[in-house]
Amino acid sequence: MQSDTPVVKDIVLVGGGHAHVSVLRMFGMKPLPGVRLTMITRDIHTPYSGMLPGFVAGLYDCDDVHIDLGPLARFAGARLYHGEVDGLDLEQRLVHVPGRPPVHYDLLSINTGSRPRTIDVPGALEHALPVKPIDRWLQDWEALQGRVLASRGEFRLLVVGGGAGGVELALSTQHRLQSLLRERGGDPARLHYELLTDGAEILPTHNAGVRKRFTRVLRERGIEVRLNSKVVAVQARGVEVERDGFRPADAVLWVTYAAAPQWPGQSGLAVDEDGFIRVDRELRSVSHPQVFAAGDVASLPDARPKSGVFAVRQGPVLTQNLRRAAEGRPLKSYRPQKNFLGLISTGDAYAVASRGNWSWEGRLLWTWKDWIDRRFMQRFSELPEMAQAQGPELGAVADSAAIQELSTLAMRCGGCGAKVGSTVLSRVINRLPPQRREDVLIGLDAPDDAAAFEVPQGKVMVQSVDYFRAFIDDPYTFGRIAANHALGDIFAMGAEAQSALAIATVPYGREQIVEQTLSDVLSGALDTLAPTGAVLAGGHSSEGAELAFGLTVNGLIDKAALLRKGGMQPGDVLILTKPIGTGTLFAADMRGKAKGRWVDAAIRSMLVSSQQAAVCLYRYGATACTDVTGFGLLGHLVEMTRASGTDAELDLAAVPLLDGAAETVAAGILSSLQPQNLRLRRAVRNQEAVANHPLYPLLYDPQTAGGLLASVPAASAAACLEALQDVGYVHAVVIGRVVDRGESAEPILVNL
Ligand SMILES: Cc1cc2nc3c(=O)[nH]c(=O)nc-3n(C[C@H](O)[C@H](O)[C@H](O)COP(=O)(O)OP(=O)(O)OC[C@H]3O[C@@H](n4cnc5c(N)ncnc54)[C@H](O)[C@@H]3O)c2cc1C
Repeated sequence: MQSDTPVVKDIVLVGGGHAHVSVLRMFGMKPLPGVRLTMITRDIHTPYSGMLPGFVAGLYDCDDVHIDLGPLARFAGARLYHGEVDGLDLEQRLVHVPGRPPVHYDLLSINTGSRPRTIDVPGALEHALPVKPIDRWLQDWEALQGRVLASRGEFRLLVVGGGAGGVELALSTQHRLQSLLRERGGDPARLHYELLTDGAEILPTHNAGVRKRFTRVLRERGIEVRLNSKVVAVQARGVEVERDGFRPADAVLWVTYAAAPQWPGQSGLAVDEDGFIRVDRELRSVSHPQVFAAGDVASLPDARPKSGVFAVRQGPVLTQNLRRAAEGRPLKSYRPQKNFLGLISTGDAYAVASRGNWSWEGRLLWTWKDWIDRRFMQRFSELPEMAQAQGPELGAVADSAAIQELSTLAMRCGGCGAKVGSTVLSRVINRLPPQRREDVLIGLDAPDDAAAFEVPQGKVMVQSVDYFRAFIDDPYTFGRIAANHALGDIFAMGAEAQSALAIATVPYGREQIVEQTLSDVLSGALDTLAPTGAVLAGGHSSEGAELAFGLTVNGLIDKAALLRKGGMQPGDVLILTKPIGTGTLFAADMRGKAKGRWVDAAIRSMLVSSQQAAVCLYRYGATACTDVTGFGLLGHLVEMTRASGTDAELDLAAVPLLDGAAETVAAGILSSLQPQNLRLRRAVRNQEAVANHPLYPLLYDPQTAGGLLASVPAASAAACLEALQDVGYVHAVVIGRVVDRGESAEPILVNL
């Protein structure tokens, strides 16, 4: 979470490129009070280009070559939004990310890299395997290895692109594929490689010595190089080469010139003829002084090759300039290095060095490169101790208007005076989509002292309330999760969601920021409510120390159809619809100890609604149901056994877990609620026998927006599970069974 200092300026970083990882690290070491950082990135684990060929060659694993932006953003006190930016509103200073409200910035920095150009070659997008975006490449590469291993006879690979990337990729993929074939007793000689470039030579940005060395290496490795071979079309079985005709291929790897994303130019930023953002020597957009850009996506006055080396070097200057711009101080110039040392690998733990007119090669150079790269990566994985939270001095970040606005905060009232101001509230509510339903007689569209609902004849209203502190620094996603969490109770009862009243506490701050936060959290809640058919009918908001949000949710159901915790029948099986582990994962995240992808997957799981699950469970005759939340899986099961007058057996190994939960529990990281939940161990008959099992603590892990736990007649369990899987609950599984109430006082038996 960010510090307690009120937010005065928002710096938004788009893309987790090589320069922005430095910005995060340096802001983490030395925060700037009053500045809030937000990173928006399409990849939570961002690849380090220097090590990619080594990964492809099988010399590194995936985590070795990726910087985990989760802990890094946490270290920097930055909000991390997972999404792909597709446009800017430069007038309103908004960043557009599909699937969430626009993100406001005072200063914006773009470091989104480039991709191999596929747009101008017909068929390249459909049939070639571009090396970026990285997540697609990783899938393509995995699939390609499978195809090669499954194939019989000759397999022809064409690598298109004669720069360092193309040469490295040809050599490293060849090394890996040949090794795999050899390991499986196959014949590596059935792989045929060709490298095609439209240039008159390979490695045009390097010296003649480097070119000579690589020409030799490629020849020795049996990779045929075709110069002056411009690929003009790609087809399913090969490529069309200008003036040379068709060349057959089983796979085409695409590592051509860098292409710019279209959205910066389309948004109105000044771009060069290829679409890269034009910046001055201070890395600031030549058209929009609030916007900075670095790395491949930037076009500098003094053009340099698109290479990660430059993006890395720009990081410290960019950090300084973002700080300086926030404080209104003069900016620093970035001076690109004239010559730089390039260490280009040959895929087999051997490398060629290139600097100016000098070149060299050898195994030692690879060892050196490996050492440099690992040391670079360590800077982002082994982070220094967190900087102490700064006091509320805002220094030069706040201008006089901001200081005047903030000086009134210290004297903010409690009680009703702590409400969010009526103008802010009405502006936010006016922006929300209309909230209408026939049976909501008085709601947000015609506000009164209270909301009024109609309960149709024969139906009853079920009601539940939930409210909690934000555990992620993203008000929109938090609003979505909080609403989903609250609705879980309604669905567990088998009811249809009808309406909700919201209660929000928003951190003190400048009016614009309070308004944005409230708007984001409510938009999130509405985006969860809307697909369920429920409307927001009213609410209450106040200012406080930290963001907290909750909802009172109302549902409707035929009285006879109510599904309750009691009702389990001996012989039923227990079905759980979602994996568990959110408590330990977010406790680890707060300490910067959870991998970004674990947290990301946990958030995605918390966003899965239980609405369809409830329909399935009901259809297959569920006898009792509850949603798994704060008391943990075991706590909720105990409640069900008590209400049903039965016992239950739980198969620990069958319980689905979120990725990383076993690791964080093994590291001893547990939710602060865990000790209270643990009191329920008295309900476990064989506590002594199971207590030391490494996964046992997870049974007490409190869940946010957890799945449904239901008892279903054994005869319909298989069909019920199939139906659940069909509608997307891929982790739904039988985790135990209901048995007759026995003599023992403890209702639960845990099977290992
Ligand atoms: C095979 C290969 C090997 C290479 N080897 C080297 C090498 O050894 N040394 C070297 O210096 N260079 C190398 N390069 C070049 C290098 O990859 C690039 O120059 C470098 O990655 C550019 O860095 P960057 O910081 O600009 O962006 P990137 O490293 O590409 O990072 C961009 C980030 O932005 C995110 N992003 C992208 N679009 C969006 C969006 N719309 N919204 C939000 N986030 C977005 C991505 O998820 C990613 O996190 C190699 C390239 C290839 C293809």
